Amino acid sequence: MRLSDLKLARSFFDGNRALSENLPAQAQIEPKPATAIVIGAGPAGLMAAEQLAASGCRVTVFDRMPSVGRKFLMAGRGGLNLTHSEDKDAFLARYAEAAPGLAPVLEAFPPSALRDWAAELGEPTFVGSSGRVFPRGFKASPLLRAWLRRLARAGVTVRPRHQLAGFGPDGLPIIQDAMGQPVPVEADVVVLALGGASWPRLGSTGHWVDMLAARGVSVRPLVASNCGFETAWSEMFSSRFAGTPLKPLALSFGGREVRGEAMVTAQGLEGGAIYALSAVLRDAIAAQGEAVLNIDLRPDLDVSALVQRLSRPRAGQSSATFLRKAAGLQPVAVALLREVSRELPAEAEPLARLIKAVPVRLTGPRPIERAISSAGGVRFSDCDAGLMLTKLPGVFVCGEMLDWEAPTGGYLLQACFATGFVAGRAAAQYVRRGA
Ligand SMILES: Cc1cc2nc3c(=O)[nH]c(=O)nc-3n(C[C@H](O)[C@H](O)[C@H](O)COP(=O)(O)OP(=O)(O)OC[C@H]3O[C@@H](n4cnc5c(N)ncnc54)[C@H](O)[C@@H]3O)c2cc1C
Repeated sequence: MRLSDLKLARSFFDGNRALSENLPAQAQIEPKPATAIVIGAGPAGLMAAEQLAASGCRVTVFDRMPSVGRKFLMAGRGGLNLTHSEDKDAFLARYAEAAPGLAPVLEAFPPSALRDWAAELGEPTFVGSSGRVFPRGFKASPLLRAWLRRLARAGVTVRPRHQLAGFGPDGLPIIQDAMGQPVPVEADVVVLALGGASWPRLGSTGHWVDMLAARGVSVRPLVASNCGFETAWSEMFSSRFAGTPLKPLALSFGGREVRGEAMVTAQGLEGGAIYALSAVLRDAIAAQGEAVLNIDLRPDLDVSALVQRLSRPRAGQSSATFLRKAAGLQPVAVALLREVSRELPAEAEPLARLIKAVPVRLTGPRPIERAISSAGGVRFSDCDAGLMLTKLPGVFVCGEMLDWEAPTGGYLLQACFATGFVAGRAAAQYVRRGA
């Protein structure tokens, strides 16, 4: 059945229903269940499939990869930070600037719902010291296995190695098998959950952007988010310190300060504190060509405490030894000071101020292929409240392919699950209402 045939099909079913009311029980004709296809078997697509199956639809999930949920499993390698426990206002504020359209979706499926869902699958969650929420086992694989078993029991069919190749004139997706051959599809409703464009080897490549743009859907270009940044280290610094953590530190840029840690890489810097500032750094670099990040190498000491320590007599110590003993700086931190100021200030106060704000000139984000997530995607203005594309009625979108952005901390998966939940439920309602 085709999306465009939906209204016709509805009246056919309604006619059957009227007829069946006058027949004896054994002769009654069961109406054929509606068919739904979901393309993309990450957390968003599988959640949409679950909602559709629960409403009685016959659901087929297609994914281009040989197995499903690869990025979800990769997230599990870092402990699977499923969501965050902070209060609702603080939680919503993590997304608000980028996508006001996301707030009602997150309210429909909040962190508590995600935690209940994980517990029902045998993976109860707990709140870590930072407020982040993890499954007890710190892994994605047991959760995904239990979830796939439950989906199979609900009648969901998963067809790996099948990819979306575009849309036909009837609005139905064109699905190709591994040999590139078109596969006939039947669908009363379609959910797209094709992910963003980071880590493309896990399946999400962002190729869908051109397919939807060709159908008139407005898509904000996909860019790296929660990513590292490039800077021009000296050969000496990058060869000696690439892979060395800088911690503890505080980073400041554009009036925002983030505490945490970062890692020196051959090309620049990456790590949690950098990711937290990645959206503002990326946008500043796009606008001005570069961004100067200030690194506080002693966030626990104020300038005057540091001046006091640096005013001690040096007693013939090398500056590296003096800075290590007086200011508690690791060799990587001392070398970073020298990267930005070949001649370190001799006076205690300017030296203390430099340690509290080492200016590092960032020239660009690392490539999107290496980012944790991507920003950009289908604009909320092109979707209705149930995440149906206004330009492609009967086609819903969810997950990272929507235009929202959030830091790490469980906000990414929470939004993927929540949008999958809302899109899946709205798609089921669309079928029930007969469009
Ligand atoms: C290293 C790493 C660690 C992470 N850790 C965390 C974490 O701890 N907490 C957190 O909140 N987030 C984390 N994330 C982010 C999180 O994993 C993603 O935001 C999330 O997986 C996105 O879900 P999704 O369903 O939208 O897309 P995806 O998980 O990317 O799934 C999309 C699916 O669509 C399929 N697909 C794409 N195009 C096609 C096509 N044309 N035809 C058919 N199928 C297609 C892909 O194969 C893929 O299976 C991490 C990401 C990475 C890379």
